[in-house]
Amino acid sequence: MLNKNHSVLLGCTLYLIGLLIFHTTVEGAVRQRDINYPAYMQGIDYGTGVTYIVGHNPPDSDTVCTAIAYANLKRELGINAEARIAAHPNAETAYALRYFGVREPLVLENASGQNIILVDHNSFAQAVKGMESANILEVLDHHNMIGDIKTATPIYYRNMPIGCTATIVWLEYIEANVPIKRDMAGMMLSAILSDTDNLQSNTTTDLDRQAVYNLEEKAGIKDRNSYFLAMEEEFAAYKDMSDKDIFYSDYKEFMINGISYGCATVVALTPEKRHNLEKRLGDWVLKNYSTQKMDMLFLKIHDLETYAATISCYGDGALECATEAFGNVEENKIVLESNLSRKKVIRLLQPQIGKWANIQTRNKAA
Ligand code: MN
Ligand code: MN
Repeated sequence: MLNKNHSVLLGCTLYLIGLLIFHTTVEGAVRQRDINYPAYMQGIDYGTGVTYIVGHNPPDSDTVCTAIAYANLKRELGINAEARIAAHPNAETAYALRYFGVREPLVLENASGQNIILVDHNSFAQAVKGMESANILEVLDHHNMIGDIKTATPIYYRNMPIGCTATIVWLEYIEANVPIKRDMAGMMLSAILSDTDNLQSNTTTDLDRQAVYNLEEKAGIKDRNSYFLAMEEEFAAYKDMSDKDIFYSDYKEFMINGISYGCATVVALTPEKRHNLEKRLGDWVLKNYSTQKMDMLFLKIHDLETYAATISCYGDGALECATEAFGNVEENKIVLESNLSRKKVIRLLQPQIGKWANIQTRNKAA
C-alpha cells in the first residue's frame, strides 16, 4: 500500500518524466524548424572573391545548366558565385540556353588557385585543368565516387543516387525557400530531361520525376515530350562536326587496376543513321586509335527511334571484357536491344576490365 510519502515521490517522478518528455519534444521541434539550408554552408569560407561553379569536361547539359542554376541560387543567398564551363556546350545544351534566353557561361581555362564548386563529377580526370590545386569548397554530384579529390578543410559534399545533379539543386532551392524563376526552371528541367532521357533511363528516381513535374510548370513547358525531342534532335544532328568532335562530344575516361579506358556515347535519330555513325566513327577510331593513349575504347551508339544500341570495342581485351559484361556479341561490337545509360555500362564493364587487368599482370609475372 502506498503511504503519503510514496505518493508524493511518485507524483514528483511522473512530473519530472513529463517535463523531460515535453522539453525534448519542444526542443526537437524547435531544432527541426530552425535548421535552414543556408546554415549547412556556414562552415565554408567562400572568401571575398568569386566562387566558380563548374562541371565536367566535355560538358553536357547537366554540367552546364546545373552550374547556371546553382550559381543563381548561391547569389540569391548572398554568395558571390558564377557559373563556368570547361568547354563550349554541345548543341543540345546550346538549344536549351537559346530557348530560355540564358547566356552561355564563360570558359574556365584553369582552375588553379580558384574557389571552386564542382557539379556533376568528382574526379580530376574529368575536371577543368588545374583542379588539383584549386580550392574546392563544395561538390554536388550523382555519380559513384571514383574521385581522387582531397581537400584541406571539410567541404559540403552532397552526392545522391538519383538521375541528375539538377535534381539536387532543385531540392536546394526548396530547402532555401528561394523561388524558381522561369529561366532557372528551364535550366534544371533541361538538365534532368537530358540525363534521364525524359525520365526513361533506369537511373530515374521519384525525386527526379517530382522535380520535372514541378519545373515544367515553372518553365512554361506544356508539351515536355516535344521539348525533349527538339533537344535530342539538335544533339543528334551533329551539325558541322568532324568525326573526332562527334566521338568526343560525350566522352569519359576511367581507370581500373592500371588499365585506362574511355567510353564515348553517341546518339542517332534513326537506326539507319546509327549504322552510318557506327561505320563512320568506327573507321575514325581504327585510323586514330594508336594516338588515343587509352588501353581500351568503347563507343556506344543508340538511336532515338528504336532505342536499340551497340557498343563497339577497341583495344586488347576490350571485346572480351564487354562480352563478359553484356553478352550478345556480333563481330567487333555488342548489340543491345535497349539502350543502357553510360553509368550502367561502366558499372557492368568495370569489374570485367579489373579482372582482365589482373590476369594480364599474373601472366606477365609468370
Ligand atoms: Mn554529366
Ligand atoms: Mn549528370
